[in-house]
Amino acid sequence: MTEFCNAIVATAPGGPDVLKLAQVPMPVPGPGELLVKIAAVGVNFIESYQRDGTYTVPFPFTPGAEAAGKVVAVGPGVTSFSAGDRVATAEGIGCYAEYAIFPADKALPVPSSVPLDVAAALPLQGMTAHYLMNSAYHVEPGQTVLLHAGAGGVGLLLTQMLKDREARVITTVSTEEKEELSRVAGADEVLRYGNFAEQVRELTDGEGVDVVYDGVGKDTFDGSLASLRTRGTLVLFGGASGQVPPLDLQRLNSGGSLFVTRPTLAHYLLNAKERLWRSTEVFNAAASGKLAARIGSRFPLADAGAAHRALQGRVTTGKVILEP
Ligand code: NDP
Repeated sequence: MTEFCNAIVATAPGGPDVLKLAQVPMPVPGPGELLVKIAAVGVNFIESYQRDGTYTVPFPFTPGAEAAGKVVAVGPGVTSFSAGDRVATAEGIGCYAEYAIFPADKALPVPSSVPLDVAAALPLQGMTAHYLMNSAYHVEPGQTVLLHAGAGGVGLLLTQMLKDREARVITTVSTEEKEELSRVAGADEVLRYGNFAEQVRELTDGEGVDVVYDGVGKDTFDGSLASLRTRGTLVLFGGASGQVPPLDLQRLNSGGSLFVTRPTLAHYLLNAKERLWRSTEVFNAAASGKLAARIGSRFPLADAGAAHRALQGRVTTGKVILEP
């Protein structure tokens, strides 16, 4: 007899209301896969782009790449994990569910001192923060960084990691509450978005910053370019306000021989060694108390639509979690 479990299923692209709770057949782990009972799901902005059709995915669609839980069964050939192990991933399949499949080679062991909800808050945004500051652009101690959405999921983690690197961190946020959170995470200066490029020039004696990390996109891109020093780098890593339109490359010349890159996490987790490096540094920092993951909102699995509405509506801080 087929067993069933609850999962969020969208039958067609659309707004947050297309995310509906449904009964689906229990996933069966294939070769190299784990079946995981999900304790907490990390909600990420990419799932809103997938849900509304900005990024193409096949429908019916169960979103969710990031979660943590306990292994209940392993597929053929898996020797690295067994039933009962605590695992997390940034690369799971259909994680908005009570049970989901994690590829064993993309599953991360969770240290016993890290609770499973915190483990669900770290892999995707933590490894993103890690590659942004170590690989997309390598930040050196003493450099000055501008980071948008400083109180967001990536923002709070990246701020802490940049301060640990001894960089000077300038953030942007939209509210007083977010300003306070960004400061607590370590930001040296916290700005509002209006005329931020001018304020950055003033704060850097006219020079501009070494690097801008911009996950807001459409609304901030021009100001981000205008905030860079000569030969500075703009790392455009998302479009929370919308995607950036095509760029006239001559603007990089007139702006000061600038660099722009548009990275994505998958290309910075190319192999087991890279995944192990990033995940170990992130989880060790969390286990030692050096890196705090702030879970700003929790929603029951059935309310995934409300979670998306909150994330896209700019009312969340830190991590948004779904609990099956
Ligand atoms: P956040 O928690 O940062 O939420 C997005 C934040 O963006 C909001 O809270 C808001 O903060 C800010 N924002 C500014 N303008 C808008 C707008 N018009 N609508 C909505 N939000 C706006 O989300 P995440 O940490 O999950 O992700 C941040 C960005 O990083 C996203 O663009 C995401 O796609 C990207 N990302 C990219 C990855 C990659 O590898 N390329 C991997 C992971 C995330 P405020 O109110 O303070 O402005």
